[in-house]
Parts: sequence; C-alpha cells; structure tokens
Amino acid sequence: MIILDGKKVAESERARIKKEIEDKKLSVCLAAVLVGNDGPSQIYVASKEKDCAEVGIRSIGIRLPEDTAEETLIAKIRELNADPSVNGILVQLPLPKHINEERVLEVIDPLKDVDCFHPFNYGKLLAGNQIVEPCTPKGVMTILDYYKIDISGKNAVVLGRSNIVGKPQAVLLLQRNATVTICHSKTKNLADVIRSADIVVAAIGKPCFVTADMVKEGAVVIDVGINRVDDATKPKGYRVVGDVDYDAVAPKSYAITPVPGGIGLMTRAMLLDNTLKLAALKK
Ligand code: NDP
Repeated sequence: MIILDGKKVAESERARIKKEIEDKKLSVCLAAVLVGNDGPSQIYVASKEKDCAEVGIRSIGIRLPEDTAEETLIAKIRELNADPSVNGILVQLPLPKHINEERVLEVIDPLKDVDCFHPFNYGKLLAGNQIVEPCTPKGVMTILDYYKIDISGKNAVVLGRSNIVGKPQAVLLLQRNATVTICHSKTKNLADVIRSADIVVAAIGKPCFVTADMVKEGAVVIDVGINRVDDATKPKGYRVVGDVDYDAVAPKSYAITPVPGGIGLMTRAMLLDNTLKLAALKK
C-alpha cells in the first residue's frame, strides 16, 4: 500500500513554484480579503500568507470588519482588479450573512480569480479549456500524477457534489478519461457504487464514513474530508479525521491519502500555483 504523501508532494510543488519565480524574476502578488472575525478563516488566511512568503509571492492581507457593507467590499475588489501589481485575488469564505457571496465573487476579475469561483472560469473548466482549476480538485490530480496513478479508463467515484470540490473533481477526472460517477446524499445503493470504483474521491464532510466493506481491494482512495471529532486525550480536545476510515481502508487499498497530511496541504500549494499561473498570463 502506498501512502500518497501530501506533505512531500506539496513541498515539491512549492519548491518548483519558488524556483520558477526566481528563475524568471517574476513579481507575483496575491491579495487575500477577509471580512469579519471567523476563527478558522483567520487561520486559513494567515497560512496562505505564510505559504506565499515561503515561495516569494508578495501577499496583501485586507481585513475588513464584520459589519462591512456589500458595496464597500465590492468597491475594494474593484480596486484590486484595477491594480496591475495584483495578480490574484481571493475572498475568504464564508462571508458574513448580510453579504451576497455569489454577487461578490462575480466581481473578481476572472483573470485574477485564483480560486476558480467565477462563473466564467467555471464555464471554461466545464468546456475543457480552463485558465485555472479549483485548488482542491487540482491538488487531487497533482498528487495522482506525482505517484503516476493511471486515470484513463478507470472507474472513478466522486463522493460529494459541491461546487468547490465534488463537481469540479468529476470534471477533471473526466478530462483525463476516467469513467466518472458522482454520488450525493440521494444516491441509492451507495456502498455498491463506491465498491465499483478503481479511484474513490471522498468529499462529503462525514467523519470516517467510507468503511472497508465499501472499498474494492486495490482501489486508490483519496480523502478530501476534514472533520473534527472530540478526543479528550488531545490538547485541543479534538482530532482531525477524513471522510474515510483510514485504519480499516488503508490495508485494502493500492494507495491512500492520510488526513491530516494529504489533500489539505495540496490545496494550499495549488493556490500558489494558480497565482503564479495568472501572473505568468500577464507577461
Ligand atoms: P459540502 O457540504 O458543500 O458538500 C457535501 C457533499 O456531500 C454534498 O454534495 C452532499 O450531498 C454530500 N453528502 C453529504 N452526506 C452524504 C451522505 N451521507 N452520503 C452521500 N453524500 C453525502 O462539502 P464540501 O464539498 O465543501 O466539503 C466536503 C469535505 O471536504 C468537508 O469535510 C470539507 O471540510 C472538506 N474540504 C477539504 C478541503 C481540503 O483542502 N482538503 C477543501 C474543501 C473542503 P447533497 O448535495 O445531496 O447534499
């Protein structure tokens, strides 16, 4: 069984990105907009800024108060759109309830849309001529490629149909000639469908949902899930687990991603790659 090591692959991706920025003497800048005081969002933005610094991407952190008006946020994004030194813009989600997320994301210049949330980029992705790809599914494809996992002609089952993970994941696997099935909360005989998969991507947000009996012997198992479960033995009172029952599924699988140490780290590295890609487009 191969452990698909997100830490190692993300490190290798960051080294490649850093080298490209240095070799080509590129000036690359990512603007991260955070509205409000959501604890996890503050941690995510801080780690993105740290990642940028590590590879030589300048980051601008824009922190706005919780009660920021939608129009103020939109005006800020338009300012960043117009700033030629800014190559990528991300708006950390979720936004406070009074702000219409869809409206805000549509204001981002598609050529600065590092998360690939803009409908223009989403449409390009569906048509197969994407400029950027959403970071998490792109991270999954990158780790599969790093370990030279065959995708063409394989049965791939994507568990989850969200706009940021499940749907674009299915599109990327389809582009690489997998035969793709997307499952969701209304799927009948879910275990049978998952058992038919050569490649399983689990992205539902349910701790240890995929059990050993649902997985075919020799399958490749990608666990996107990040779930906190109570654990009094841990200093923070919880531990993080994926959507796959790792200990039970790992011995049956050909290859598997751990949680933590898998796709989460890949997602972070892919944000840097998207920023670099958009910066390079300008040249
Ligand atoms: P969403 O909540 O947006 O979507 C969950 C999907 O799972 C939905 O399509 C839902 O179906 C489906 N689902 C829920 N319960 C079941 C079930 N019992 N059986 C079958 N399908 C089910 O989640 P996200 O896509 O945003 O995230 C999924 C997980 O991935 C989370 O744990 C999240 O934390 C993690 N994540 C990890 C990232 C990383 O970098 N590693 C990045 C983004 C997310 P339906 O549509 O019918 O409701």
